[in-house]
Amino acid sequence: MILLDGAATAKSIKLEIASEVEALKKAGKKIPHLAAVLVGEDGASMTYVGSKVKSCEEVGFASTLITRPASTTESELLEIVRQLNNDPDIDGYILQLPLPKHIDEHKVLLAIDPEKDVDGFHPVNVGRMMLNLPCYLPATPAGIIELLRRYQVPTEGKHVVVIGRSHIVGLPVSILLQRNANPGNCTVTIAHSRTNDLKSLCASADIIIAALGKPEFVTGDMVKDGAVVVDVGITRVPDPSKKSGFRIAGDVNFAQVAEKCSYITPVPGGVGPMTIVSLLMNTLSAVKKHR
Ligand code: NAP
Repeated sequence: MILLDGAATAKSIKLEIASEVEALKKAGKKIPHLAAVLVGEDGASMTYVGSKVKSCEEVGFASTLITRPASTTESELLEIVRQLNNDPDIDGYILQLPLPKHIDEHKVLLAIDPEKDVDGFHPVNVGRMMLNLPCYLPATPAGIIELLRRYQVPTEGKHVVVIGRSHIVGLPVSILLQRNANPGNCTVTIAHSRTNDLKSLCASADIIIAALGKPEFVTGDMVKDGAVVVDVGITRVPDPSKKSGFRIAGDVNFAQVAEKCSYITPVPGGVGPMTIVSLLMNTLSAVKKHR
């Protein structure tokens, strides 16, 4: 079994990005600037945004964190989006989801300039991804593809079962894996909560991408020998033995599944760090594209 070490891979990609930033600096060019908008005080969102800002610093990007209380109105948030769209110093920005319930997420996402949408959530970028045109790929699916690419995991002709059909993970990773590319050229089945007999479906899969948000859902009996398993899940599970009071659990029962796999991602240290570097890669490409 080979561990798909997202933490180590992300570290080496960060070094590559940092040297590109250094070269930009030396050439007297503008360094990339990523902004993040966080509305409300959700603990997990604050942690994610914090790591994104820290990663920007690590690679030499400029970063701006805009925080607003949960009581922020939709029109106040739309005004922040308008300012970021028009700020020539900002190369790309992200809006940390979920937004408070009283704000229409789709309306705000639609207001983001697709050229600065480094999360790849705007319909223009989603459409371009569907058509295999240049675009910002959504960070988590792009991170999974990059991890498979760097470990040269064979994908051509393989049957992939993606568990989960969300717009940010399951659906886009399914699209990327069926493309005529490497990694890609897979035959993809997308499973969701209404799928019948998921157990036997998974047992027939060469590659399983688990992105459903149910801790340790994928058990040893669901995985065939030699399968590749990518665990996207991140759930906070109460754990009184931890100082924080919780531990992070993936969607895969690692102890049961790992021994049957050819490759597997750990949680934490698998897809999570790759998601953050994808965002940095998108921001760097925004700079290259526009300057
Ligand atoms: P989501 O929007 O809640 O979607 C979950 C998907 O799983 C839905 O399509 C749902 O089906 C399906 N599902 C739920 N229960 C199922 C079951 N018993 N059997 C089969 N399918 C089932 O979640 P998400 O945003 O995609 O996130 C999924 C997980 O990945 C979460 O743990 C999240 O925290 C994590 N995540 C990690 C990263 C990272 O960087 N590592 C990034 C993003 C998300 P229906 O459509 O039928 O409801």
